[in-house]
Amino acid sequence: MIGGGNSAWTPEQLAQMACLRDEALADPYALNELHHLTDNIGPRLSGSPQAQQAVDYVAAQMRALGANVTLEKAQVPHWVRGAETAELVSWPGQTPGTTQKVVLTALGGSVATPAEGLTAEVVVVDDWNQLHALPPGAVKGKILLFNHAFDKELAAQGHGGEAYGGAVVYRGAGPIAGASAGAIAVLVRSAGGADFRLPHTGLTAYSEEVPKVPAAAVAAEDAEMLKNLASQGPVKLHLTLTPQTLPAAASYNVIADWKGTENPEQLVIVSGHLDSWDLGTGALDDGAGVVVSMQALHLLQKLGIHPRRTVRFVAWMSEEEGSEGAAAYMEDHKTEFANHIGAIESDLGADHPTGIYYSGKSALGGWLRPVAGVLSSIGAETLVDSPETGEDIDGLSQKGVPSFAPVQDSRFYFNYHHTAADTFDKINPRHLNETAAIVTVLAYALADSPQPAPR
Ligand SMILES: [Zn+2]
Repeated sequence: MIGGGNSAWTPEQLAQMACLRDEALADPYALNELHHLTDNIGPRLSGSPQAQQAVDYVAAQMRALGANVTLEKAQVPHWVRGAETAELVSWPGQTPGTTQKVVLTALGGSVATPAEGLTAEVVVVDDWNQLHALPPGAVKGKILLFNHAFDKELAAQGHGGEAYGGAVVYRGAGPIAGASAGAIAVLVRSAGGADFRLPHTGLTAYSEEVPKVPAAAVAAEDAEMLKNLASQGPVKLHLTLTPQTLPAAASYNVIADWKGTENPEQLVIVSGHLDSWDLGTGALDDGAGVVVSMQALHLLQKLGIHPRRTVRFVAWMSEEEGSEGAAAYMEDHKTEFANHIGAIESDLGADHPTGIYYSGKSALGGWLRPVAGVLSSIGAETLVDSPETGEDIDGLSQKGVPSFAPVQDSRFYFNYHHTAADTFDKINPRHLNETAAIVTVLAYALADSPQPAPR
């Protein structure tokens, strides 16, 4: 389906989109950039030297394309992971004189245990209801484990995001709930589908109202073991976590503008977040989102395309640790939201994309149909009205800016997300380029339509 009487784009523009799609599928730029970000630079935790190196690198690459590059400052958390070990020191059926290792990783932002660690009995609950059903004082002075399982069936049916949403609430709210009940440390079962004893990190939260207690995620297998043993009798764990929260650091969003020809003040954002967790190298989350967005500018440059409006590449900083980069952008650009014509973020992995999420006026669905037609040859023609598109563009979306994200196959993403296995080899080059095709075609469509997208 190309053209049509009431299409927002001319047949020539739709042909240009098809050309961008085909170039995106064939061009190795995004893959090569991702290889550098992940293997050469490595993990990009907020406030880290590697995050700064990534800022400088991406800025230089965008300058090399001839884009107008600025670094916009944001104060970001600077949390550093330390030692993280745990072992059972007493349990039912223990062989005398032995301990048993428990695989875990500190949650982002966690406070430390004493340097020599702490030892306490473990209380296991599956969910909030089981916690609230415990007798008063049952958790006091103990280590509380939330053993809420990631729903692998739901993920296998293509609803990885929903499965994650069901599990991640314990990672976020578990430490406050545990400390409120008197726990001296909180463990959560990893909020992902990973096998092979891979613990899953991610941000947790504290409150000023209750003590901040050390918090870690245990591998799913270890959570099952702890539950089994605790059902037989008292289980004591020795836990050592030595993370540090250093003073907030100055960091940057990388902004690169590909200037519009007729309405350069009107902006279409194409983006991903440059920071990552530190266990892996942030290939899927979210190196992929950054490089497909870089590829959009690369292809405009390569094909000599200059849309009416400015296409603004943004590599957001510190999405994982509180979206400080996005918050700084909202503050710095608060008088310019009317000129933000659309915002795209790719942060849902890099598996095969099946279409576009859109958020805003419901008319966007009909308006985008010709674009979906261009993407149908790669199996990405589905248009999905969604309340959310991307964490970093959510603020813009709230201000009425139409926002978009590629819909990705989510069946496998949460097996790797936030684990040590989020590495370059998990990237399927074809799927990465399909995602690049979506963001490039959509960015061009938004930036060159005679009338801006409905809002
Ligand atoms: Zn992400």
